[in-house]
Amino acid sequence: MEQEDYRIKVLLPLPIGGALDYLSPGDALEPGQFVEVPLSGRRLKGVVWDDNSGRKSKTIPLEKLKIVEAVLDLPPLPADHRALIDWVAAYTLSSPGAVLKMSMSVREALKPPPVTRVYELSGKKPASMSTARERILEAAGASADPLSLQKLASYAKVSISTVRKLASEGVLVGQDEAKDKPYISPRPDAPGPELSEEQAQAATGLVELVERESYASALLEGVTGSGKTEVYFEAIAAALKDPAAQVLVLLPEIALTAQWLGRFQERFSAEPVQWHSELGSGERRRAWRAVIEGQARVVVGARSALFLPFQNLKLLIVDEEHDASFKQEEGVIYHARDMAVVRASLGNILVVLVSATPSYESLVNAKEGKYLHFVLKERHGPAQMPTIKAIDLRQHPPPPGRWISEVLEDAIGENLIRGEQTLLFLNRRGFAPLTICRACGERMDCPNCTAWLVEHRYKGELLCHHCGFVQPFPESCRSCGAKGKLAPCGPGVERLSDEVATLFPEARILIMTSDTATGPAKTREIVKKIEQGSVDIIIGTQILTKGYHFPNLTLVGVVDADLGLKGADLRAGERTYQQLEQVSGRAGRAERPGLVYLQTYSPDHPVTAALVSGDRAAFVGYELEARRAQQVPPYGRMAALIITGRDMEKVMLACRRLAKTSPHSKKFRVLGPAPAPLARLRGHHRYRFLMLSAKKQPPQKAIREWLARAKPLKGVRIKIDIDPVSFT
Ligand code: ADP
Ligand code: ZN
Repeated sequence: MEQEDYRIKVLLPLPIGGALDYLSPGDALEPGQFVEVPLSGRRLKGVVWDDNSGRKSKTIPLEKLKIVEAVLDLPPLPADHRALIDWVAAYTLSSPGAVLKMSMSVREALKPPPVTRVYELSGKKPASMSTARERILEAAGASADPLSLQKLASYAKVSISTVRKLASEGVLVGQDEAKDKPYISPRPDAPGPELSEEQAQAATGLVELVERESYASALLEGVTGSGKTEVYFEAIAAALKDPAAQVLVLLPEIALTAQWLGRFQERFSAEPVQWHSELGSGERRRAWRAVIEGQARVVVGARSALFLPFQNLKLLIVDEEHDASFKQEEGVIYHARDMAVVRASLGNILVVLVSATPSYESLVNAKEGKYLHFVLKERHGPAQMPTIKAIDLRQHPPPPGRWISEVLEDAIGENLIRGEQTLLFLNRRGFAPLTICRACGERMDCPNCTAWLVEHRYKGELLCHHCGFVQPFPESCRSCGAKGKLAPCGPGVERLSDEVATLFPEARILIMTSDTATGPAKTREIVKKIEQGSVDIIIGTQILTKGYHFPNLTLVGVVDADLGLKGADLRAGERTYQQLEQVSGRAGRAERPGLVYLQTYSPDHPVTAALVSGDRAAFVGYELEARRAQQVPPYGRMAALIITGRDMEKVMLACRRLAKTSPHSKKFRVLGPAPAPLARLRGHHRYRFLMLSAKKQPPQKAIREWLARAKPLKGVRIKIDIDPVSFT
């Protein structure tokens, strides 16, 4: 080997420029291998990286390079995954190390897996006997598997030292056993349910694509309750026929998995491996390790699961693909749905995007033939699509301080008599979104953010939903000092619950929000209550809208259908439509028909009108035309720069500098700087630039050059958001 051949690149999970040069310790190291290297006096774990630099020029001389200190006993990070990391870094303008960090998030998993020492009888006779010793021999003999010292001691009801003594005499022999048990593999061969014709058609199409073993993107669009899950289960079953294949299902929120897991288990006789923020560190380590070893066959997870180190990923599914929670808004700002498509193309596999209300991006890709398009038009079995009606609040105003109109009240009453369940949807946590002093007019706002404090009456607190600022609900106004004058303005779910309790004192009411469904276990408990029928009226925010199947739920009341339409967000209409369609989709999913009431002050708004008429195609067509005319996504590109800092002067100065050097031209239109709608967040001032360009004109290079021109300012951060979803 030439001296130069010992030079390798190592990428470290740090937000620095790129991979660093090291010397391989002797034998040549392959890209993907996990290694430990020295860096400024520390020992860090990283990955041997591909060298596409064409080095030679400006390289550090060999004699200055440090040597790799250890090679970790782990399968290498596969080439398609490394390519994903480089791709995401380039697209989001993040450092590759910051992206790698998402793939190496479980430090513990990089160490050798933990073992426990377990013991069994060796056959050797003990030198002396006692009743304690007899009981130990009995316990060890009775167990089919070797046992730990602790277990033997507790089964035999003796002290650990007594057991240890027997072991040291050689009566018990020990061996190391991995602490992490392997996951049970799902079984692909059990038959699924009998599919309807349109379901079978979609399933056959997907299975064919799986078997082709090459890149394809498919959009599976089907009305709520049409059996999309059953259909993509067929694709999973097909992929699992290859005994080494791995499958990843991305879901927007853990809440969804409560029911999803049960269905998966039923179909495949094993649980999938889960990946979400609530996992304990042990489970996390076990899952990460099983993924890189190829032992985890099906993983279901939130967006970050995309960066798990799959050894042999063969199928990717993104359920509820339109959901905004696939966008990560902090750190590396990426959209997991879009990056899933990238992952599929780099790995040459199939990705299936699933939704009842696909994003316009995906719809246009399907229309233009980039995605295959499978459509399910009907609900499964006898279930029909719910009837959606608008209640014009101008004609049927609720009494002052109330939010349920008489029409909706009557419908709830009738539903109660029939013994069927009602869902009231209001996307506002807490008791009241605003608290105002009736003496002086003071509005209670957050000291750190441009936001009102939300009263949470059950906890007796005022809370900022943006930064988490919290204070006990005050007795007197902070401005004029008047006592008992602070009054709630507008409804939150808690206040609505009070109203419902007054109207229907006999009804069993349950609130489901992120305050009550605080984790998977809590969520499961709530879902179970609803399933068992021990709840009549469910009051919930958007966490209730996704995927749930409650057969006895027949009435949905949207308390404020206009809520999502306020604000001049590009996607306000699209998102409100999706949300209301999803929440409507909870009604009438079994034999009994569903009815949905939308309470609104503007029944003629295109979103409301489209929901009522059921003519989504016309609505989407109209919206897409408008987007095309303005050359905005999905027909154009957008990128946002968010300038933040504690010191307003400095933020303004940074903005002025950026404005002066902005790449405003024929190719790029730069809007701003303008104060962000959330002009202050956690004490930081926020300004935004928005950069628009044609679809064939990616903005990354221009932004990189733009930032290179502007002098950095201490205390001012510039966040780059490619393809922004949130405009706050
Ligand atoms: P979607 O995901 O489109 O909302 P689901 O897959 O949740 O729809 O299906 C709705 C309900 O109908 C589920 O309880 C599901 O098990 C059932 N279902 C769908 N298709 C079939 C089928 N072919 N045979 C039996 N049950 C089905
Ligand atoms: Zn705040």
